[in-house]
Amino acid sequence: MSHDEFPTDNPAVVTCGLPYANGDLHIGHLRTYVGGDVLTRALEKLGQETAFVSGSDMHGTPIAVQAIEDDIDPEAFALEYHQQYEETFPRFSVDFDNYGHTHQETNRELTHEIVEALEAEGYVDEQQIKVAWDPEDDQPLPDRYVVGTCPYCGEQARGDECDEGCGRHLEPGEIEDPVSKISGNPAEYRERTHKFFKVSELADYLSGFLDRLEGTPNAQNQPRQWIEEGLQDWCITRDLDWGFDYPGDEAESEDLVLYVWVDAPIEYIASTKQYTERVGPDTYDWAETWKESGEIVHVIGRDIIQHHTIFWPAMLQVAEYNEPRAVVASGFMSLDGDAFSTSRNRAIWAEEYLDEGFHPDLLRYYLTTVGGFQDDIDFSWDRFRERVNGELVGTVGNFAYRSLLFAYRNFEGTPDVELSTEVEDRIADAIADFEAGVNDYSIRKATQAAVELATFGNEYIQRHEPWNLDDEAAAPVIRDCVQIAKAVAVLMQPTTPETARRLWDQLDEDGSVAEVTLDAALEAPPVAFGEPTELFEKIPAERVADLNEKLEQRVQATTADAETESDDTAGDDGTVMDLEPLAEERIDFDDFQALDIRVGQIVEAEPIEDSDDLVRLDVDIGLETRQVVAGIKQLHDVETLPETRVVLLANMEKAELFGYESNGMVLAAGEEADLLTTQADAPLGSKIR
Ligand SMILES: [Zn+2]
Repeated sequence: MSHDEFPTDNPAVVTCGLPYANGDLHIGHLRTYVGGDVLTRALEKLGQETAFVSGSDMHGTPIAVQAIEDDIDPEAFALEYHQQYEETFPRFSVDFDNYGHTHQETNRELTHEIVEALEAEGYVDEQQIKVAWDPEDDQPLPDRYVVGTCPYCGEQARGDECDEGCGRHLEPGEIEDPVSKISGNPAEYRERTHKFFKVSELADYLSGFLDRLEGTPNAQNQPRQWIEEGLQDWCITRDLDWGFDYPGDEAESEDLVLYVWVDAPIEYIASTKQYTERVGPDTYDWAETWKESGEIVHVIGRDIIQHHTIFWPAMLQVAEYNEPRAVVASGFMSLDGDAFSTSRNRAIWAEEYLDEGFHPDLLRYYLTTVGGFQDDIDFSWDRFRERVNGELVGTVGNFAYRSLLFAYRNFEGTPDVELSTEVEDRIADAIADFEAGVNDYSIRKATQAAVELATFGNEYIQRHEPWNLDDEAAAPVIRDCVQIAKAVAVLMQPTTPETARRLWDQLDEDGSVAEVTLDAALEAPPVAFGEPTELFEKIPAERVADLNEKLEQRVQATTADAETESDDTAGDDGTVMDLEPLAEERIDFDDFQALDIRVGQIVEAEPIEDSDDLVRLDVDIGLETRQVVAGIKQLHDVETLPETRVVLLANMEKAELFGYESNGMVLAAGEEADLLTTQADAPLGSKIR
């Protein structure tokens, strides 16, 4: 079955991955929210009835752990960030129809209803599992309470996900060498009884679901591989007291709460339901969308693809809800070629961006067009300036201003002549490109349709030189140009809503450009309007130099602070620096000698296509050349890796990742996989001793 093109007769809902309520938002976070907002507005331009919902994710161990560190109640801790997000999104014109949070009653009820359905349908069983436990503090260590080694790729990992290596979701008991994140004590594993959702029994359904699923290809390819590798049943409870109780009394007494990833996506439904409760089912009916015939579109970051394409549709299927139509997963975003790092204050904060006086539309435009949604993108102030000055000021702003100014001065509005067929056809093409972009879930293509139309407008006015014509001869040219400007306002509205509104007002149009559909692009503009003003301002080069310097100084200051406080793992603002405690257990020299560590040199490096993180390396270690798979794709420019000298653990157990044998392990430091190298030129193959 394939889906009908948008617009359909069904109500749609666009959801954004829930922001986790434990820190300030930076512009990297905004990518998915802006993306969801642009997609929603673009669907509405097509005439598709669409609700746009999200909410803050309040549960889970990262919040519980941070609340312990800050000595505050987890609900109060998370609510503070929830309120901050609720205020921040509209300031970037990210206008949710409903923005709730997961700790609300609506979500609790729906969560219990769905989990009870899983139970009733026989998809839940109990299993004895090993749970990490701090024997000294007699405390269970679920998920983020524990850190250790990923059993799949050997990288440092969190208790619930291999965030720095292969990206896999980790089940309780899987992580090796567990250590408590709270106390630093080495943890042991204890047997506990937990509830499991039998996802493995739904593998056939999920394969079919993935065949029907639309959106970005990364959201289909990765899960296909996980299914091929064999699905594991999914532990849906935790030994924790922050979260929703497992339904039924028996579990409650055991201090079991539902795993955060059970109730988090259910907030999509809860938030839609709250929207209906506010506006009434005649305006928007949540039940029709979620239970009858809705178009459900999830916009997420690619780190949560597994939750949205395996666990979530499996839950919906068993509980008899509709399945998602599309999962649109964004790529990674870096800042000036390097990762955002909240602990190093290496970020451009949402608040800071606005304080600098930049219009939110500029950032929305940048995030939407700098790369495809699935692509990894980079933000730098230089590139930001380039795109603002080039495309927004030079193309869109310039065209609109010169056209409207000419029209105002010579005709006091739109000249009273017919629109030419050439321009009518050109605008119709732009509308078709926009529609195709939306149906492809490419907000970039849809936006480009508008910018290319403005480029055409500039060429058109240049070609006809109305300034060299008398009014009678100039009238048809200017009539065409005013129509193009109006069409640009309509097509740009999803991406730059405030600017489109200003252009709409300059044309003295009735109503709101946010409400009209694409047909409006071809309806005649008003006969009279006033003097226009420029839509955008150029960003001077000095401004960018200042901003770059500011960022660099701040990162240096934060790094210096962190170094002087190296015995303290928390920074000034309470953020955890993620430094692991030193190992207490000593090893003897023989243990060290057992590690065969060699000097090597990368001779070849290629990204592994289906993986987000992994790179295949050929490493020359003197005696031979080894193929090694390393999780460093996002952190290094792969093309520059050849000829880099590295340090290789040669007698690491062989592993197979994405079909590639990894024969050894390249050593690297920290979150950003800073590759170890040698200071002088020890011959390749030299043993580290
Ligand atoms: Zn891993």
